[in-house]
Amino acid sequence: MLREISSGGVVVRETAEGWEVAVIEPQKTPGAVPKKSSPKIVLALPKGLVDEGEKPEQTALREVFEETGVRASVLRKLADIKYVYVRTWADHQRVFKIVSFYLLHYESGTIGEIAPAMQVEVKRAFWMPLSEAARRLSYRGERAVLEQARQHLQARPA
Ligand code: ATP
Repeated sequence: MLREISSGGVVVRETAEGWEVAVIEPQKTPGAVPKKSSPKIVLALPKGLVDEGEKPEQTALREVFEETGVRASVLRKLADIKYVYVRTWADHQRVFKIVSFYLLHYESGTIGEIAPAMQVEVKRAFWMPLSEAARRLSYRGERAVLEQARQHLQARPA
């Protein structure tokens, strides 16, 4: 089976109402076969393939900037999530994917201000309360990662 290694970020910032996380609505992946066709919007965390020679933390920071427009710093590693998907190009090959997620602290930038080239991949990026995102993200693995982030932030407030 093909393998892909990606890395992504749980970017958090503290507001008067509590912690928020940077969430994206990806454009539909051309060629990916959805499990079931659904008009529901997809909500996900920013992530992307680890380039050759790149450390996974660097990938997380780079992808966060490219997909959301914000700069962040690394607080800690959270978890690796794993899934298999089928892609239609290259003959419906199955891909085994591992995505490492890092807890990142917001530093600067305006969410949603992304390069035109990235708008092909990302429909929009926005802040969402962390507790809401932990319920609403589309993928179970990413919801579990947000639950872990919440526990970490509760145990060690800023
Ligand atoms: P990357 O962001 O790493 O460059 P990509 O955008 O090419 O990757 P994915 O986001 O992995 O690809 O999406 C490929 C397929 O896997 C899509 O059908 C998507 O719906 C599905 N998918 C994405 N994330 C998850 C997940 N955490 N759990 C299960 N399926 C997922």
